[in-house]
Amino acid sequence: MKTIGVLTSGGDAPGMNAAVRAVVRTCCANNIKVFAIKRGYAGLISGQLEQADVNSVSDILYKGGTALGSARCKEFQSEDGMQKAIETCRKNGIEGLVVIGGDGSFRGASALSERGLPCVGVPATIDNDIACSDYTIGYDTCLNTVMDMVDKISDTAKSHDRCTVVEVMGRDAGFLTLNAGIAVGATAIVVPEIKVHVKEHIISHIENSREKGKKHFIIMIAEGVGGVEALAEYIEEKTGIESRASILGHVQRGGSPTVRDRVLASEMGYSAVKLLMQGMGNRVVAIKKDEIVNYDIYEALNMKKTIDQAFYNMAHEISI
Ligand code: ADP
Repeated sequence: MKTIGVLTSGGDAPGMNAAVRAVVRTCCANNIKVFAIKRGYAGLISGQLEQADVNSVSDILYKGGTALGSARCKEFQSEDGMQKAIETCRKNGIEGLVVIGGDGSFRGASALSERGLPCVGVPATIDNDIACSDYTIGYDTCLNTVMDMVDKISDTAKSHDRCTVVEVMGRDAGFLTLNAGIAVGATAIVVPEIKVHVKEHIISHIENSREKGKKHFIIMIAEGVGGVEALAEYIEEKTGIESRASILGHVQRGGSPTVRDRVLASEMGYSAVKLLMQGMGNRVVAIKKDEIVNYDIYEALNMKKTIDQAFYNMAHEISI
């Protein structure tokens, strides 16, 4: 393989830049020409790309977001759009592509592989919802950001003997909410994967904690469960505890990646290029039990990952 392209696609995640840097540097070290493609599949369709070298990625390792830009691109999902993307690769001699993104981006990568352009996916999403991988790039940074923010919220909740209902990102996945909830000592945690009667669950945990002498409460709710404003009102009405809602929002996506995300991104970016060098396409890189592995994209997309009930129960048992 003489020429490789790299792009970031879908939702941005801290550490995407570190992955791009690893891809470019691995290519350079192995005398492979590498193109940085802007704005995900949209840039691949419109031909927004430039050749990258060792120096063009020299100041991005520690930066949040994605310097290449990302986009959600509907046109790419049509045959016409896909052919345009393939044409861009053909014109520039690109023989393999590294796609840094989430499940949606991997579906695109798989479609391109089917059409003769070998692609390797690198999982990057703050939600950690890629089933084949124990961790995704961006998840650890986001977890730490959520923990820092909720620690600060706790300072004020404690000062006023208040209850704060915090909404954490994650429409379908509750990994962030549960793990951050454990890290901040939340009184109750609600995630989409585990069905509970939300109001009863929260009130019973608050009452139980109150009986044991607790005066301030943090309730962690995943975005997919929602309704934090109404829940805060309900808690105040039912318990008499002054309650507030706090939606953390987009601040959760940003920031400089943690050590863990930088190292993971570097390993995964490196591994993706090595797979392409061996002529392997339609693969996704993953980490399993601290080891970098890879799977067929179809196989990976069909895997399921869910929250462990015992882990969830533990979170509640150790919170008072
Ligand atoms: P993520 O990669 O974070 O899951 P999206 O689901 O938005 O984000 O997907 C990113 C992009 O991948 C989409 O904008 C689209 O261009 C492409 N994509 C998503 N699903 C498919 C699919 N089934 N076939 C081809 N391309 C897809």
